[in-house]
Parts: sequence; structure tokens; C-alpha cells
Amino acid sequence: MRKLGIYVHIPFCVRRCRYCAFYSNEVGDRSTPDVAKFEREYILSQVEKIRKYAAIYGREREVDSIFIGGGTPSILPPEMIGYLLARVRENFRVTEDAEISLESNPGTLSQEKLDAYLEMGVNRLSIGIQSLDPAVLDMLGRIHSPEDGIRSFQMARSAGFQNVNIDLMFGIPGQRYGSWLDTLTGILDLNPEHISFYSLQLEEGTPFFDNYRNGKVPKIDTDLDRVMYHEAIREMREAGYEHYEISNAARPGFRCRHNQKYWRFQEYLGIGANASSFIAGARFTEEPDSEYHLNSFMDDASEYVFTGLRMMEGISRKAFAETFGRGFWDVFGDRRDSLREYFDQGLLIEDGDILRLSEEGIDCSNEVMAVFV
Ligand code: SF4
Repeated sequence: MRKLGIYVHIPFCVRRCRYCAFYSNEVGDRSTPDVAKFEREYILSQVEKIRKYAAIYGREREVDSIFIGGGTPSILPPEMIGYLLARVRENFRVTEDAEISLESNPGTLSQEKLDAYLEMGVNRLSIGIQSLDPAVLDMLGRIHSPEDGIRSFQMARSAGFQNVNIDLMFGIPGQRYGSWLDTLTGILDLNPEHISFYSLQLEEGTPFFDNYRNGKVPKIDTDLDRVMYHEAIREMREAGYEHYEISNAARPGFRCRHNQKYWRFQEYLGIGANASSFIAGARFTEEPDSEYHLNSFMDDASEYVFTGLRMMEGISRKAFAETFGRGFWDVFGDRRDSLREYFDQGLLIEDGDILRLSEEGIDCSNEVMAVFV
């Protein structure tokens, strides 16, 4: 039976972080009846979609990963998360060993919530700690302190979570190298099973982008950003983690099953505002207003390359041909000249059936990927 991943987007946050371009609504402390009603109605409308999709796709597939992301899913009362999971289980066949992940913000977690998540079957918790430097968290506009982050991790362990991811950010304006090293040391001391580490992306339309343009925040030191990145990989490897994707490392056996579906172009269903799906050969994105946008063949083929090249093991040309019914170089042959310099410098490697970035190639991954657009 075919395997399917399900993503459910929860578009609510206490406060928008300054750098964030994800689709999410700021709902403050949620104490008003209006907010609670808005959230309840949103969840109920997603349940309708779960039923509809299950009738179309559920018969031939079993769900081996569920990812509740956002936004801030941990802002919701745990009963709402439990209700969502129960409806997924009721409508889809969910495998016994399914990976069930929930994203959380340390500013919204409590021991009771964590106990309840584990009880309802969440078996992988992702905590957006981002940094252990208060100045960095302040710059990013996060709602929590470094201590909140560490306490959240410890509460997750007391609840019994044995698979925890920590999200980190680096390359932040004004961030010192020492601040990043201290964060890495503090996080590695916690010994999580998985670490995601992203350099700050300046996204148009965010307060951070505007402040940066207006010179209100210090310039990002791109050389330092790369030094921070490679040092993180070095320290994580030394601590026994496998660096398996550009921005992700895991202890053996703890790679994120759900995210690998995106990078490997396996089937997933995205439910909720702005969520994307790839299923039955079609790729589509749900708009916030619930209209659907269907991708073209070239959109899909390009996406396959960007996501596949993010994996350290790269992409298989044979798998590409099986997915798209056309050879890789038949589709992208006209890009060979533009790629030549990357091949010549050993940044992009074609090794038999496999096309992959070398470790040095990661630093120019955006340029390489842009050739495939
Ligand atoms: S908590 Fe996450 S989703 Fe919400 S605004 Fe901050 S970064 Fe964006």
C-alpha cells in the first residue's frame, strides 16, 4: 500500500516574529471569545477537508507520518490537537509506527500540555528554541527567553518524549560568533535527537526586511554566516549526529520521516491555509482563502531538483525519470552550459545516477538551484 504524509497547518501565533513570512495570524494571549471561536472554526473546517481528502485518496494509501505545523500549534488547547488527530485516524488508515510531529514555541508550552500531547500519540516534538542568547531572541522578536527554551526541552523529556527536534537560527544581524558557539554547546548538552539549523532569510514584507533596508539593524556578515554554518556541522558530527540535509542533522535512526517526503518527492497532503500537497502526480497549494493553485510540469520538475539537492545524498536521475516519465537531462539539458562551472569546480557532482552538491557546493546551493528554475 502507498505511504502518505499528512501536514496540518495551524495559522496562529501569540505574536509575529520580526523575520517570519509564514502564513499565520497574531492572536495575542487568546483570552477573548472571538479568538477561541476563530480557532475552533478553523479546526472544524480542516476536519471537513480531512474527510473529503480521505474519500478521494484514503483507500489506496496508509498514513505513516502526520506533521502538525504552523504557525504555533502549541498555542491551541491540547484537546483541539487531540480532536484533529482523532479525525485523521478515523478517516485514514494510520500505521502503528507513524511518526506524529508537533511544532511548538517555548513561550506556549506547559508540562500539562506536553503530557497530553504524548498521551494522544504525538511522538516527535519540535521546539523552536532558535538561540540561547537573549539579545538574539530579542532581535528576532521571539516571545520566549533562553531559559524557557531549556525548560521546554526538560519538560518534554519529563513527559516522556524520546524524539525531540530543536530549531536553531544563526547569521542574525549583530550576532557574535561566540553567541552561536555558546548556543551550540548548550543545545548539544541537551542531547536532542534532531537539530534543524537555518541561517536567517530576509523575506520581503517582514518588519526585519524593512528595518534592514532602512539600515536600522546591522548588516549581516555573510562570511561569518558560512563560518557559523560549517562549525555547526563540525560540532554536530563530532557529537555523533548525521548531517543528512543542508539544514538538518539527526542521531542515527532519527531523521525526520515527514520532511524527507518533501525532499524525496514522495506523496504528502497539506491541509490548511497555504499548505502544499503532492499526491497522485499533482502538486497544489491551498491559498489562505482556500482556492487551489495547481503547479505546472516545469514547476514540479524544478521543485524536485531544489528539494532533492538539499539532501546530502542528492537526487537519482532514475527516480526523476520514474516520477516524471522523462529523462533528467531531457528536461534540463539546456541548463548544462550554465552548470558547467559548478561541475568544473567540484561544487556539483554527477556520480553515475546521482547528482548532488559537495560540502563546498552547499554555500552556493541557491545559485545552483536557480539554474533549474
Ligand atoms: S512563532 Fe513561528 S510561525 Fe509564528 S511568527 Fe514566529 S516564526 Fe513565524
